[in-house]
Amino acid sequence: MNALIKEQIAIIRQRIALAAQRSGRPASAVRLMAVTKTVDDQRIMQAIAAGVDMVGENYVQEARRKIELMGKSMEWHLIGHLQSNKAKVAVRIFDMIHSLDRLELACELDKRSQMAGVVMKVLIEVNISGEDTKRGVSHGDALSLIRDVSALENLSVRGLMTMPPWFDDPEAARPFFIALRELRDRVAAEKLPRVEMRELSMGMSQDYQVAVEEGATIVRIGRSIFGERPQ
Ligand SMILES: *Cc1c(COP(=O)(O)O)cnc(C)c1O
Repeated sequence: MNALIKEQIAIIRQRIALAAQRSGRPASAVRLMAVTKTVDDQRIMQAIAAGVDMVGENYVQEARRKIELMGKSMEWHLIGHLQSNKAKVAVRIFDMIHSLDRLELACELDKRSQMAGVVMKVLIEVNISGEDTKRGVSHGDALSLIRDVSALENLSVRGLMTMPPWFDDPEAARPFFIALRELRDRVAAEKLPRVEMRELSMGMSQDYQVAVEEGATIVRIGRSIFGERPQ
């Protein structure tokens, strides 16, 4: 089992490096996040032993237990939907929150960050496809949300995150990755305070190579490392 996780990670890193090269960037421009929702502790620790230094969790409670157990020698990122009433815990345990999608949550995170004495790094989650089932601020409302968030002194906006629709053919996701990158460039041109458009968190097991070709700086990968999740 250990060997398998380690091998999978090595294969993924190699594919990331090649895709980065195709985008004219070094492999070091892209970070691999291991997505660990429903993954048991032992297998997470195997991924960490194989060099993973960034872990993504979907649920605050599940993450809290794992972080208490495994410690903070790696970064823990929240990639799932965040309810405002969990903001207090979230700012204390996570290194970055990828799912900021509304002003009400931003205000709560700002307040809780101040109380905890931290400046929380956040990504703005954009519903780039406009699908009803997807979370995230709409493409049209993203810039105005980011302008509002830039006024909050205890939040540091580091970039954008998205989940494109699911396609069998990863090429079909490419236009959505391009759209996120173009939005990133538009936001960056505004030069807002506390807003650094460094990160594009995009690409999952089925489409990360395309995402890297289009500029991803963080790819979020679960199944390709750990296998299928239980239904
Ligand atoms: C589960 C999840 C992933 C990882 O998906 P895989 O298909 O397992 O690679 C990435 N991002 C988010 C937001 C997720 O919820």
